Amino acid sequence: MADQTRTSVNRNQRIILFPIPFQGHINPMLQLANILYSKGFNITILHTNFNAPKASNYPHFTFQSILDNDPENKSSVSRDIHTFAQNLLFKQDGAELAFREELKLLLSSRNDGHVLCLITDALWHFTQSVADSLNLPRLVLRTSSLFCTIVYASIPVLDDLGYFKLSDNNHLEKLVPEFPVLKLKDIVKMGLKGKKDPVAELIGNMVKNMKTSSGIIWNSFKELEESEIETILDKFPVPNFLIPFPKYITAASSSLLELDRTCFPWLDQQPPNSVLYVSFGSIGQVEVKDHLEIAHGLVDSKQPFLWVVRPGFVNGSTWLEALPDGLMGEGGRVVKWVPQQEVLAHKAIGAFWTHSGWNSTLESVCEGVPMICSPFRSDQPLDARYVSDVSKVGVYLENGWQRDEIANAIRKIMTNKVGEEIRERSKALKQKLDASLDKGGSSYESLESLVTYISNFNFGGII
Ligand code: UDP
Repeated sequence: MADQTRTSVNRNQRIILFPIPFQGHINPMLQLANILYSKGFNITILHTNFNAPKASNYPHFTFQSILDNDPENKSSVSRDIHTFAQNLLFKQDGAELAFREELKLLLSSRNDGHVLCLITDALWHFTQSVADSLNLPRLVLRTSSLFCTIVYASIPVLDDLGYFKLSDNNHLEKLVPEFPVLKLKDIVKMGLKGKKDPVAELIGNMVKNMKTSSGIIWNSFKELEESEIETILDKFPVPNFLIPFPKYITAASSSLLELDRTCFPWLDQQPPNSVLYVSFGSIGQVEVKDHLEIAHGLVDSKQPFLWVVRPGFVNGSTWLEALPDGLMGEGGRVVKWVPQQEVLAHKAIGAFWTHSGWNSTLESVCEGVPMICSPFRSDQPLDARYVSDVSKVGVYLENGWQRDEIANAIRKIMTNKVGEEIRERSKALKQKLDASLDKGGSSYESLESLVTYISNFNFGGII
């Protein structure tokens, strides 16, 4: 982990952070909060009651629930992620008034530190106008890649070209002229119905309000996405900071699910680089038939594996009941949820079969672990393509869940010659990343400039 002690500021200076309450968004925001705390800032976390972070894991932070406190309020959400998205995430206009009032109260009542700025998830786009109306600087945390965000900023253009509605297989394999890294099927796989899709509208608002923010913090690093930086600076002409959070702190303390650590004694007994770690994130779901293909693919590969099957991962099943008894044999272990980065850092892990969520991708890169990519939707197909065709630190399973292809891909990445090159590139990328954390390196400098930038904010408070 990187040395976090160089720049430090007056502990009297407070930053307010507001994550989107999904695992893949809470993790990086809490990692960022810890990094900023280590630099001397006081931290207040605003959060919804839905998926509230575990405050007891952060005795050094102040927590304040906001927005979904009132059970009578129709923006109140507590049931599931889809209800939350429908009620609050997609309809942020209704949240503006309530958020402004609660934020004003917070800004005027606190006497435990001078507030410098607000940092919100980029998807909380409505917070920009609230911050503007209070003259409070707002930075955004963007929890996906630079590349994905550039593609997201082009959704209206891609829709006008008809790419989201393509179904002809002959076209789907062609490269996208506007983004020659991508195939047309990657755009289709994002799962948008076009620019009028509620998710696309949310993204459009996000992009618009990122451009007028006081700055953008990316969970990434220059050497990983070097070719995207010029476009980002052109499309988002505000200060941009690229900081690889997993190199400073893991995401284990913000896990919403209980962490199973019983896999570590088992991993300790496995030879170096011999185990495939398998996890498809906190939200994605598969049908029973796909679950069976995954299981058969794993068994047929004859490689040891550690497979996270999150309860709810299989549509209509609670956990493993759809798998025939004895199918998984003795070759691997199936668990419900683990401290992922610690697993990836274990010397027994040889590769990661992932859904290409951005946190998982970056955690894998940080540990120098090559990937097999099986994206579901949204940014995941874009990240999968980038990993396999640009960074070349993984292989992309492009044709869905098919046991033969799965077993072949596992053998390829774990054992054979092509896999060896991918494994070498993964290690080389990790070395570049490690070097970027040293004084004068890109990540080191980015974090130092963020700290200086925030320290110099001069928010005058509420009048
Ligand atoms: N994760 C974890 N334990 C697991 C599987 C995943 O702690 O068993 C964490 C992982 O480390 C990552 C997050 O869950 O930080 C998943 O985020 P990602 O962006 O990869 O995917 P999402 O869940 O948003 O689809």
